[in-house]
Amino acid sequence: MKDTTKHPCFNKETAGSCGRVHLPVAPKCNIQCNYCNRKYDCVNESRPGVTSSVLKPFQAAEYMDAVLEKEPRITVAGIAGPGDPFANPEEVLETMRLLNEKHPQLLFCLSSNGMGILPYLDDIADLGVSHVTITISAVDPAIGAKIYSWVKDGNVVYRGEKGAEVLLERQLAAIKGLKERGIVVKVNSIVIPGVNEDHITEVSRVVAELGADIQNMIPLKPTEGTPFAEIIEPGHETIGPLRKEAGKVIEQMTHCKRCRADAVGLLGNDQSAALCGTLKACSELRPIDINAPRPYVAVASREGMLINQHLGEAKEFHIWGKNEEGGFKLVEKRNAPVAGCGPKRWTDLAATLSDCRAVLAAAIGETPSLMLEENGIMPYVVSGFIESALETVYNGGNMEVHKGRRGSIADACCTGTGTKCG
Ligand code: SF4
Ligand code: SF4
Repeated sequence: MKDTTKHPCFNKETAGSCGRVHLPVAPKCNIQCNYCNRKYDCVNESRPGVTSSVLKPFQAAEYMDAVLEKEPRITVAGIAGPGDPFANPEEVLETMRLLNEKHPQLLFCLSSNGMGILPYLDDIADLGVSHVTITISAVDPAIGAKIYSWVKDGNVVYRGEKGAEVLLERQLAAIKGLKERGIVVKVNSIVIPGVNEDHITEVSRVVAELGADIQNMIPLKPTEGTPFAEIIEPGHETIGPLRKEAGKVIEQMTHCKRCRADAVGLLGNDQSAALCGTLKACSELRPIDINAPRPYVAVASREGMLINQHLGEAKEFHIWGKNEEGGFKLVEKRNAPVAGCGPKRWTDLAATLSDCRAVLAAAIGETPSLMLEENGIMPYVVSGFIESALETVYNGGNMEVHKGRRGSIADACCTGTGTKCG
């Protein structure tokens, strides 16, 4: 059972011990807010909509592994852009699915403008998303029209009050639908002097009536290149009394850090600059094509004649292929990925052996076995002469005959899941 109190944004008490990571998998947006400029990319720029790289779902899953290794206090995986999650629903749902598979203990969180979320309410509930933020800065289309320059519904673009009205309808329905599914809802409201500061407590009242759990009033951060660039950022003297008034109807968040779309770490100790290189490296990972031709077989062997090493202890793999005469030849030796904790070692190995149809070793742990198989590489726990086993791999036959006395997946000599090797 997940502990939903471990979300540092929804529960201030845990902000010093529980962290969050934003996975930047959603580049497109379906509305245009007059304060948003997502083009600017700088690791020193801390505001929503900014990220140093955009990730594909499989890259986000790799990044998550790396982040947890470096900062195990992360309890929340969220998607907050750099655009809107539901302008990129396939990427977002696939990311959540992968995370749910690999890290079911994490809390999953989404932050949206609410425009496109309605068709996906059941999906996100099924995927275990426990917290959703909807940004609502006006509940009057006349005021909304000053905040949004356009709103896109499928192929139709709405402007002015009509756009604000369509958006508002979706936002309010989203809160209702999320609460019906037992999801914790936060409403972010951007306080924009001269535009909505006299209206923001009305937003609080309306969303509280619909059951929203908490409101986060965020002072506008004037951003270069936007229509609101010249508005002066409201200070505590503006926000404080508004929060006090709104606090009579809905709990107020007071510790928001206005995070980037790739924020990571504790709220008071953001590590997005430190993990920027890891994020970039993950954004450059290529998917493993499981349908690519696989001419070779990898073998864990000490001397190159017998299959006599455990997968986890092999520092290199002997790569075998067929020769012109129909026999077998050693093509090369390939270094194994550096041993370390976590499943990344095995995804790296799958990438290293992406042109191999099988790997032969004297023992293989359960986790690497599953991960290799998922990536189209058959793991065989066998022993004896390499060429004899290759005969069966290439020409078909029963690999059982090559099993040694003790050979089996997760052999007794290879304890554990394989994720802790070396
Ligand atoms: Fe930018 Fe978010 Fe507004 Fe989209 S919804 S324009 S990403 S602030
Ligand atoms: Fe939490 Fe505010 Fe950062 Fe969102 S922007 S993750 S609400 S601190």
